[in-house]
Amino acid sequence: MSLSSSNLFKDANKFIPGGVNSPVRAFSSVGGKPIFIKSAKGAYVYSEDGNKYLDFVGSWGPMILGHAHPDVINAVISAAKSGLSFGAPTKIETELARLICEIYPSIDMVRMVSSGTEAVMSAIRLARGFTKCDKIIKFTGCYHGHSDSLLVQAGSGALTLGKPSSAGVPSDITKNTLSLDYNNCEQVTNVCEQIGAEIACIIVEPVAGNMSCIPAKKEFLQTLRELCDKYKIVLIFDEVMSGFRVSLGGAQQVYNIMPDLTTLGKIVGGGMSVGSFGGRGDIMQHIAPTGDVYQAGTLSGNPLAMSAGLTTLKILQHDSEKIYTDLNNKTSYLLQKLQNKADKHNIDFSTNQAGAMFGLFFSKDKNIDTFEKVNNCQQDRFNSFFNFMIENKIYFAPSSFEAGFLSTAHTIDDCDKVIGVADKFFKTL
Ligand SMILES: *Cc1c(COP(=O)(O)O)cnc(C)c1O
Repeated sequence: MSLSSSNLFKDANKFIPGGVNSPVRAFSSVGGKPIFIKSAKGAYVYSEDGNKYLDFVGSWGPMILGHAHPDVINAVISAAKSGLSFGAPTKIETELARLICEIYPSIDMVRMVSSGTEAVMSAIRLARGFTKCDKIIKFTGCYHGHSDSLLVQAGSGALTLGKPSSAGVPSDITKNTLSLDYNNCEQVTNVCEQIGAEIACIIVEPVAGNMSCIPAKKEFLQTLRELCDKYKIVLIFDEVMSGFRVSLGGAQQVYNIMPDLTTLGKIVGGGMSVGSFGGRGDIMQHIAPTGDVYQAGTLSGNPLAMSAGLTTLKILQHDSEKIYTDLNNKTSYLLQKLQNKADKHNIDFSTNQAGAMFGLFFSKDKNIDTFEKVNNCQQDRFNSFFNFMIENKIYFAPSSFEAGFLSTAHTIDDCDKVIGVADKFFKTL
């Protein structure tokens, strides 16, 4: 007999802190217990309890082709039969690198790593090594992985030094990180006017996906580009989530603004552990062994991971116009109908969309464009919504600060199912 999720969670807690290997999975913010997943296929995940859920998490972004896409699975199986890791160069690494450079005109060269965190951490080191400056600018509400420099909360004034947002991070490290307001052109301009020459890089999620979904205003990204040109600061777009998601060429394609460095993850690995960072050749040449910025990885460019990523990207590229138009249309359909149902029941509700990425907000405000506004949404209501959805076998991310995702496997029927359940939920309020 198989154990239920709740028993599995009890067991997991004995051996794994909090029972999970990444904190949001614990469901703590929505007041429930995590569902243990046994398998997944297409738009659905199957739990150890024998339930089938319509999935809008997609492993937090990577599964844009739906779960267990046969071509991706076959590519991984076939790679596995030739050996799991060599720690030596392979042909497929260049193939994936070439494809990334082809899809992203801002990327001349790219290095593979094993996670988004690693990609961002390395890109920051590279920017610091290249500019010989220590200070970096990030924006509150943007998440860039869990490396020390980036686990920072803003001080009260724009120029106060960043304080660590996690125990174990020395304030000596975060004192070089300034956390400013997202979508606020004036503030970042003022800061650069004062200390622009000391800044190594400005890092931003061009479509923020870690404070629900907040697309940047175009003029904000334009301002960052201009400031970076003016003060010789490296502009880093963290497209770990938005890359291959909001369009094939990521947010930089949608906004038509080129960063100096780009970090990728999630979709680039097709569900396996891959991250990458790339950009201007003159900057990338500063990485070891050609340059003096050290960066390495025993499993970097792992052949299984490369084959999952390469297969995924080739499928996306092959029919990109149709794929991204469909994804976009399905997502718009879902959000528009959810809005209609909310309006019908007089519920304060709004949504954000960037391609096949979305945010749902229980708020009167129809223009959620800052971290503060996300923070002011009705948390309790989101939690009831989440739990009502789970009871009805629809799986959204277990936090109001996470984005939702559609895949090519989601159908209009799937969307209609959510809309029907949401209608019932709004009626209960
Ligand atoms: C997920 C994410 C990361 C971290 O990637 P991991 O693979 O979880 O380490 C970094 N930046 C952004 C924008 C992300 O969405």
